[in-house]
Amino acid sequence: MDLGIAGKRALVCASSKGLGRGCAEALAEAGVDLVLNARGAAALEATAQDIRDRYGVKVTAVAADITDAAERARVLEAAGDVDILVTNAGGPPPGLWSDWTRDDFIKALDANMLTPIALMTALMPKMIDKGWGRVVNITSQSVKAPIPQLGLSNAARTGLTGYVAGTARQVAAHGVIVNNMLPGIHATDRADALDGNVARQQNISVEEAKARREQTIPARRYGTAEEFGKMCAFLCSQHAGFIVAQNILVDGGGTNATI
Ligand code: NAP
Repeated sequence: MDLGIAGKRALVCASSKGLGRGCAEALAEAGVDLVLNARGAAALEATAQDIRDRYGVKVTAVAADITDAAERARVLEAAGDVDILVTNAGGPPPGLWSDWTRDDFIKALDANMLTPIALMTALMPKMIDKGWGRVVNITSQSVKAPIPQLGLSNAARTGLTGYVAGTARQVAAHGVIVNNMLPGIHATDRADALDGNVARQQNISVEEAKARREQTIPARRYGTAEEFGKMCAFLCSQHAGFIVAQNILVDGGGTNATI
């Protein structure tokens, strides 16, 4: 399928690895020029070069912490006038409800709610002027069904989801289409960290923690960044113009709900 977005330009945040990289690669495969971002410069530049070599698109790499206002300003300056925005950042650490302080909540809200809102606020006006834009926010299955030990994530991402639900309906008339993608467990560094945490808590190996988690997923496996990225590229395509303010689960059936 031709996604109809060759020659467009996208900012994909937190994209040197994992799900962000999967989204960047799928957009590059569709012929989209990219601005990539992550904190670690070496991994970011390696990813940028790999994507240039494999897909022949223009790739600008900006090493920056996307959750920091000053550093985000550098990313936005390099991004300039983009047609597509994919928001993403690292997820908050797991813990117990009684552990978290106000500062922990502020940090989580900054990273996983206020940063994507700031990016949308900065970039959507130019999309509105052009009458075309696509935004995909990477959130989590925890928006649909809470993951108890990820209370910081549950809280911050649900706040973002509420914001998107209203805002997406305000900008859709201008051709700017905003949706969220909700990953279930995917085989990335983040999943390794979560499995490592379970292994330590339960005194089992990381492999055993992973095998047990796989048994809780109807598809009996972890997702891949590649398949996640393909859905993102579709939501950024010409064909997704009537899909507005949706929360698309990509979780192998892990969230047990009828709708
Ligand atoms: P990952 O494999 O650990 O990759 C994270 C990427 O984001 C890396 O490129 C990392 O590079 C970059 N990054 C992290 N914090 C950043 C920041 N503050 N500013 C700029 N770049 C940053 O993680 P992932 O699995 O792709 O997860 C992506 C998001 O989806 C996270 O919010 C995660 O909580 C959420 N999620 C993941 C899963 C899953 O199973 N994988 C499930 C549900 C939700 P640097 O470290 O160099 O910055």
